[in-house]
Amino acid sequence: MLMNHSNAIGLAKMSCSLCHGIGVRVIRTDTEVPCNCIFRAIFRACLNRFRQCTVSAEHIGSVSLEFCRGSEGRRVYSRKQQEYAADFCLVSRRTLDEVEHTVFKYHFLLGADWSLCCRQLKLDRGSFFHMVYRIEQKLGRIFCELKPYALYPLNEYFGGLIRRKPASIFRRPVSTSFIPPMAA
Ligand SMILES: [Zn+2]
Repeated sequence: MLMNHSNAIGLAKMSCSLCHGIGVRVIRTDTEVPCNCIFRAIFRACLNRFRQCTVSAEHIGSVSLEFCRGSEGRRVYSRKQQEYAADFCLVSRRTLDEVEHTVFKYHFLLGADWSLCCRQLKLDRGSFFHMVYRIEQKLGRIFCELKPYALYPLNEYFGGLIRRKPASIFRRPVSTSFIPPMAA
């Protein structure tokens, strides 16, 4: 995903105490990084689409023809919703460690609330919500950075658009060398 200030502001949480709704944090005085609230928003968007896909699983119909606009330029038949649901689960399993994946499964996939999860996993409430935040951040980041087929943005996943060279335009430390104006 092409991460820039525009979509960072669009995804950031207004009440975030770290970025104050800007979506960008400055570390080491001159390096900008995306705020974690962006990744949590990406995760929730992907989770909502996963839930929509599973609700419509009873209505699995015919395959659809997808246009891949990558360098191959091929057209393929696919079951996009089922592929998305499988990708969502498999990427999560691959990314999270065992304890995190157990919490992810109970809380996000099976819908157990915090009290049930805490009782079953013998966690206190603070540890549980810290782990939930960590899971959302890890998965949100991997969902938008996955190559070559990122799960986010969802319209690109479902539309078949492939970006070959995603680039971040967040500001990096710049050289302080002075370049004098040159005559044309
Ligand atoms: Zn933030």
